[in-house]
Amino acid sequence: MKDVETIKIESRNLRGTIATSIAAGGSRFDESDLQLIKFHGIYQQEDRDARTERKKAGLEPAYQFMLRSRIPGGVVGAEQYLVQDDIAGRFGNGSLRITTRQGIQLHGILKGDLRATVREINASLLSTISACGDVNRNVMACPAPPENAAEIEVQALAHRLAEHFTPTTRAYHDIWIDGEKIDTVGDPADPVDPIYGRTYLPRKFKMGVTLPGDNCIDIYTQDIGFAAVLRDGEILGYSLLVGGGMGSTHGKAATYPRAASPFAFVSAEEAIEVAEAIVTTQRDFGDRTNRKHARLKYLVEEQGIPWLRCEVERRIGRSLALPVEVPFDDVRDHLGWHEQADGAYALGLYVENGRVKDTDVARIRTGLRAVVERFKPQIRLTGQQNLLLLGIASADRPAVTTLLREHGIETDPGALGVRRYAMACPAAPTCGLALTDAERALPDLVTEIERDLEALGLAEERISMRMTGCPNGCARPYMGDIGFVGRSKDLYDIFLGGDWANTRLNWIYKTGIGRTKLADELRPLFLGWTHGRIASESFGDYCHRVGRDALLELAAEVPA
Ligand code: SF4
Repeated sequence: MKDVETIKIESRNLRGTIATSIAAGGSRFDESDLQLIKFHGIYQQEDRDARTERKKAGLEPAYQFMLRSRIPGGVVGAEQYLVQDDIAGRFGNGSLRITTRQGIQLHGILKGDLRATVREINASLLSTISACGDVNRNVMACPAPPENAAEIEVQALAHRLAEHFTPTTRAYHDIWIDGEKIDTVGDPADPVDPIYGRTYLPRKFKMGVTLPGDNCIDIYTQDIGFAAVLRDGEILGYSLLVGGGMGSTHGKAATYPRAASPFAFVSAEEAIEVAEAIVTTQRDFGDRTNRKHARLKYLVEEQGIPWLRCEVERRIGRSLALPVEVPFDDVRDHLGWHEQADGAYALGLYVENGRVKDTDVARIRTGLRAVVERFKPQIRLTGQQNLLLLGIASADRPAVTTLLREHGIETDPGALGVRRYAMACPAAPTCGLALTDAERALPDLVTEIERDLEALGLAEERISMRMTGCPNGCARPYMGDIGFVGRSKDLYDIFLGGDWANTRLNWIYKTGIGRTKLADELRPLFLGWTHGRIASESFGDYCHRVGRDALLELAAEVPA
């Protein structure tokens, strides 16, 4: 099998033989094309729950596709949302998934329906290009309704960055939108991408923009984080943080999560130019021999910030100003009703693990659709997998609340307890890299933990919990109070000691704990926290202060 670098070089600007493969039919793409379709926002997956039965029956795996829309800052129009909902019903598995990077994923799409779905998404003026692949992914920004010029500008920069770093190849348009060209030749009118070149980046690349205080975009996990520096409420420029990233591999010490480091202060006018110089430095120096060691974070860790500064300064032809400290002390999830600056209202709605679907408990998909069709709100997706409905007239608030409640959708975040702060990646059965469940395991685990917190009088506490089905860390489990990371079937590593504002990595507490034992492992620590916390110290800060050894001793002393 060819390596990914060779596939990219030979792909003629990401064409490969995707169009030929679609014309030929079948249920899957070959090994090379399935690497290339990621750049088009598409992952080939299979229903892993059905794997054994199908194998026994002599059938091929149940191939299906995940389609991810790139939505800078998470801003979606009402009509655009309805298009995604329609596609989920007609071509997908009947659900939408809000991603931890403010995008939307549709699962369960068959190969023969891919072109129709991509066309419909593009006709709604959204796109799937570069939602995945070795390029700059969806650019995150605080989704709160803007109250001032600085908040508007943060969203605007996210959109400018997304536009600037979109691959220039016409392959996406030719394959999915025109759909008539068969890809036996490259398009001579399609020049080499000025930023990505022929080989694109060594690995994925992530950016996010935010204001001081509220770290709802997890700025320390970004390859480049743009933290606005304010004076008298106006944006003076941005302090850049570089080299954040979550992924690691079990048993490979050379791979690790990393919190981004302060890099430089740039004016608003310089922001994109400097970002491009960082991206092209990663393009030229990032490790192309080992994809598990290819993110910018390894370059930053191994070469150092001074080296990166020299390289970026050489590329832009001038010196960079030193970074300015931008404080973050909170993660606001923006849930509940909030008055906007224009007098209308925004409603932040909790969506468990970002999965918009109808269940016996709540018909979230149908209820949301009803509200969006009737009131036409702008929708903003959050980095915590929730969504905000903007622009609702004051007079419509009771009707919106009633309509949502009729569908079993909770509009009062105060009723959610600690569940409000939990998030999980999709993991099994769709993600090919999953070692175990996450989205399917976390809700019941949270119920157990809620029970324990209630018994200890801690039900009102804010504790963030993040679970992933493998160490790649898509739900950012290495930040926050508690992380659960899949190790193998129904076994998880427990991470503790992050902080509420996600400015500090947590650390491994125990490895290989069975799914049914996770709450048992935490119970004595919660008890220790109630007795040993200083003032209103958070659970993560308590664990960080006392350290792993003391927690292990505590757990050994206190019966579970
Ligand atoms: Fe898949 Fe792992 Fe990402 Fe979860 S963290 S979605 S299991 S790659």
